[in-house]
Amino acid sequence: MTYPNTQLFINGQWLDAADGRTLAVMNPATGAEIGRVAHASKVDLDRALEAAQKGFETWRDMTAAERSKIMRKAAGFMRERAETIGRMLTQEQGKPLVEAKGEAASAADIIEWFAEEGFRVYGRIVPSRHNLSIRQMVVKDPVGVVAAFTPWNFPINQVVRKVAAALAAGCSMIVKAPEETPAGPAALIQAFADAGLPPGVLGLVYGNPAEISSYLIPHPIVRKITFTGSTPVGKQLAAMAGQHMKRVTMELGGHAPVIVCEDADIGLAIKSAAAAKFRNAGQVCISPTRFLVHEAIREEFAQAFAKHAQGLRVGDGLAEGTQMGPLANPRRLTAMAEMTQDAVERGATVLAGGERLGNEGNFWKPTILADVPLDAKVFNDEPFGPLAAIRSFSKLEDAIAESNRLPYGLAGYAFTRSLKNADLLGRRVEVGMLYVNMPALPTAEVPFGGIKDSGYGSEGGPEAVDAYLNVRAVCVMNV
Ligand code: NAD
Repeated sequence: MTYPNTQLFINGQWLDAADGRTLAVMNPATGAEIGRVAHASKVDLDRALEAAQKGFETWRDMTAAERSKIMRKAAGFMRERAETIGRMLTQEQGKPLVEAKGEAASAADIIEWFAEEGFRVYGRIVPSRHNLSIRQMVVKDPVGVVAAFTPWNFPINQVVRKVAAALAAGCSMIVKAPEETPAGPAALIQAFADAGLPPGVLGLVYGNPAEISSYLIPHPIVRKITFTGSTPVGKQLAAMAGQHMKRVTMELGGHAPVIVCEDADIGLAIKSAAAAKFRNAGQVCISPTRFLVHEAIREEFAQAFAKHAQGLRVGDGLAEGTQMGPLANPRRLTAMAEMTQDAVERGATVLAGGERLGNEGNFWKPTILADVPLDAKVFNDEPFGPLAAIRSFSKLEDAIAESNRLPYGLAGYAFTRSLKNADLLGRRVEVGMLYVNMPALPTAEVPFGGIKDSGYGSEGGPEAVDAYLNVRAVCVMNV
């Protein structure tokens, strides 16, 4: 199985780093090096910045129809190439092939939706309170060059949400994509290049994340920052952006509660929330983690959940029938071991998994911990792995209070047959996205983003385009 080396994409060309530096890319299923990725230095970043400024001036002055045509063509390439791209993605990131192909194909849906949304960047006319000959126009313009920083868990999806919204708004963008999973983002950028995107509109760089962000964020050419990753890094980058008065969108960590009420359909709760726990080996910012189950059904739920976890086929994502792949990097394996040990030491019971699988690759068994104390790490820090923690509750208000206890506020899930409960949860659970009686369905047209320490700004819906627009008033007196 071939896996490509990845270069930088600057001014419409694939290039090695100016100083020739590269980094190794590993397959998380085997631990073996499968390729190299170019490591940008300041010389490369300066070239990318200059190209992005020119690219912005070109793209800004094109019509929504012209932009949409190119974007739709790129979407078509992503759909056509989903199988090949999916194979690369599985090799670099580990997820099962079916999930990897799905990620590539769903990028096409996202691009298409934003290609259409670009037609709807409307302003408005505000009647003057002083004089009828005054026309007060509200106009929206692209903010300019954007610097985007994206993580390794969804190498394509995290990039495409930013790229598609920015392009729809008329912005250009330099993407600092993940060094651990570089080929997926490169395939996405290639689709846009093949579709005829003018040079400089999209740039793609890899290297040292902290060096690149501390160079790009303060740079006068860059007008907006968008980051997906952990809350601590997000806070650092948002602070730096604030110092330089740059606009930001922050899509950060989560610790999703799952409230399973006494009247819940347990089968449905297992099928949707519990199954979602192990998607992408739990390395998902909206992954369900704190399972708060009513005491009357706690035993039945926990047993069914453990059975589900034990039945999952874990293996190389390229192998037929694999349902959960390895963790993307050894750091996550260490985190799983530490969190499990900590929970057990504090009195939790391991109902499933709880240990590494084999000694090659980053495989961790799907893990269910029951009766987890509130002070256990897993109930406070984002596990970002296949670890679910169960606690019981007796009153719904207590489950809501526990949901809101952490500083995170990204996704939340609930299962109930009561409209009254659903309504209360909808009003009281402090999350950016709440799913009742269903798994998460984060499509392009629905806002995607968090509140509290999970960040701000949205990466779905019209709000995602607004994030790349300036709003200005232009007032004209007809004299
Ligand atoms: P990390 O916090 O070091 O890095 C997270 C991401 O931020 C990576 O993509 C990294 O390249 C980038 N990053 C780190 N420092 C940066 C900097 N100074 N400037 C620009 N980018 C920077 O942790 P990690 O080990 O890679 O991932 C672990 C944690 O990150 C997880 O526990 C999870 O909380 C979070 N994470 C969240 C998402 C998400 O979708 N929100 C995705 C990946 C990781």
